[in-house]
Amino acid sequence: MILDDIYGVILERRRNPSPDSYVSALTTKGKDAILKKIGEEAAEVIIASKGLDKQQVIHEMADLWFHCMVLMAEEGLSHSDILKELEDRFNKKKEQDTSGCIFCNIISKETPAGIIYEDENVMALEDINPQAPLHVLVIPKKHIPTSLGLINRDNELIGQLFQAANKIATERGVAERGFRLVMNTNPEAGQSVYHIHLHLLGGRPMHWPPG
Ligand code: AMP
Ligand code: ZN
Repeated sequence: MILDDIYGVILERRRNPSPDSYVSALTTKGKDAILKKIGEEAAEVIIASKGLDKQQVIHEMADLWFHCMVLMAEEGLSHSDILKELEDRFNKKKEQDTSGCIFCNIISKETPAGIIYEDENVMALEDINPQAPLHVLVIPKKHIPTSLGLINRDNELIGQLFQAANKIATERGVAERGFRLVMNTNPEAGQSVYHIHLHLLGGRPMHWPPG
């Protein structure tokens, strides 16, 4: 990513100050000089944003951004720390929106259900309205409304869902015969509970294409 490259150069110019480097000159003046520059760049963003030239706004924002990265280096931080903070805030906001989620209530044991498997991240329960002799729902404990909300950090969790489903399919004797794993996303697919879940269906021949 370009931010990594820029940050690498900033660190290098701090480590090995060179006379013709802007970053070296700024950082050798100390933190107050960097802070002053950030204040100036922020003012430039405001001025540009009051005008009509979008390109100028981009230019000033890039300057501000760059000087914030110089300050990060001064503070012993990097853009990854800031990106992680933003990601955590965003995820927390999404995860907090669990009010009225039937599966979250089952996970917290507020609502009773036929739980057949549970570990740190995953839970499996008998579907209340089974569509096959074996119909189990494998759900992550993390509240993710639809498969569209999955992020890189969920990759391992998705693997765990499939592994739990395989384990249950094997224990229930359908692994060799065959079983189906389905995740419905949004109304046309028939999603009715907006907390992702893998349907594990087995114990009868399955038709294709599905209805
Ligand atoms: P979907 O339509 O793909 O969102 O699947 C939701 C599934 O959750 C359906 O098969 C429902 O029968 C099932 N379901 C809804 N409420 C419960 C519950 N309290 N306990 C077990 N299964 C449930
Ligand atoms: Zn939920």
